[in-house]
Amino acid sequence: MMYKRSSALFKEAQTVIPGGVNSPVRAFKAVGGTPIFAKSAKGAYVYDEDGNRYIDYINSWGPMLLGHAFPPVVDAVIERAKAGTSFGMPTELENKIAELAVSMVPNIDKIRFVNSGTEACMSAIRLARGFTKKEKIVKFAGCYHGHSDAFLIEAGSGAVTFGTPNSPGVTQGTAKDTLLATYNDLGSVEKLITANPNEIAAIIIEPVAGNMGCIPPKEGFLEALRHLCDTNDILLIFDEVMTGFRLAKGGVQELKGVYADMVCFGKVIGGGLPVGAFAARSEIMDYLAPTGPVYQAGTLSGNPLAMAAGLAMLKAINADKGLMNRLEEKTKYLHVGMADVLDRNNIDYTINRIGSMISVHFCKDKVVDFKSAAKGNNDTFKTFFHGMLNKGIYIAPSAFESWFITDALSYQDLNETIAAVEQVAKEL
Ligand code: PMP
Repeated sequence: MMYKRSSALFKEAQTVIPGGVNSPVRAFKAVGGTPIFAKSAKGAYVYDEDGNRYIDYINSWGPMLLGHAFPPVVDAVIERAKAGTSFGMPTELENKIAELAVSMVPNIDKIRFVNSGTEACMSAIRLARGFTKKEKIVKFAGCYHGHSDAFLIEAGSGAVTFGTPNSPGVTQGTAKDTLLATYNDLGSVEKLITANPNEIAAIIIEPVAGNMGCIPPKEGFLEALRHLCDTNDILLIFDEVMTGFRLAKGGVQELKGVYADMVCFGKVIGGGLPVGAFAARSEIMDYLAPTGPVYQAGTLSGNPLAMAAGLAMLKAINADKGLMNRLEEKTKYLHVGMADVLDRNNIDYTINRIGSMISVHFCKDKVVDFKSAAKGNNDTFKTFFHGMLNKGIYIAPSAFESWFITDALSYQDLNETIAAVEQVAKEL
């Protein structure tokens, strides 16, 4: 593959954009080499500035559940744009997407739209703190909830990739209010609750983690967290920015039958436009301005283009009875195919999979938390990543990310991917 134009564009970008990118993981820092500059995308494929075609397993980091340039979304955005792109006034479109989202997700009455997953999680914990009148929060090492200060304490995703889990710029004061637990380890949460009696406002968790690779919760873990929150007057927040409208129409709450007090959304809910949202029962949501005292706002929140895209996306997901099964079957097919190749080549690996999320860690032991995820061999991952890229398969440029399976993938695409793994495995 030739990356001539991408290389030139990256060079140019670095002169005017820090590191040449507007979000760090895009820079390929963990794997080396030049980031690919996208030119266009359609269905399961993304095309770069050099004319290369890739089968895409990143899918804009999750939103493209139904494939790139999904016609109902594209049409909705074009139509909407003709009638004005922003008003700073309420629109009927906002009612429609809110009604649909509330009907799809269990256990929520009201939802507020923002512009990113970061904003959703940041606003959710402010509301949780205001509502409970307590200040501390518990998060899990390796979980990523966006880049707001309170969450940049042993965060996953790019914050791990770059080895700066505690970013400069986050104050000691903020850091001391974020308590760290271990994913899938209930005892670690119990200890924090005992050591901070009546001080914890909320426990926030990715109910299926996707920012240290894909790590599903152990059997009973979410249920036990729910119980701990109930008995200690703590709000349970599910960060479903990755999993919402993906692992089930109603997210992990529906999939596992465990209900959170608050839920955060992003990615799929915007159909590829900048959208986040947070939701809860009325009692909690009405504690927000203008009805309640907790302030939260946004000039472009509920933006008509973003809402049109999100509404078209949610409608398509809601109407498609077979979607979740198809996604799961495709992901399973890929899992089985890759596992067979890696086994035959005697490579140490762990594949975690749930629904349409999957990841490969190059280590033998089970990956259940951040510590075990970090045991993966990064040199092997780098070779794997570049080998796959050269064969036209675009996976996330870090082992601390989930792959996202889209319904646009055909079984031929999956076979092509498995065949690429077969070739690359010989170099590992
Ligand atoms: N929460 C989770 C679980 C995420 O995966 C992400 C982004 N990868 C975020 C929050 C932050 O979302 P955004 O990048 O839209 O700010």
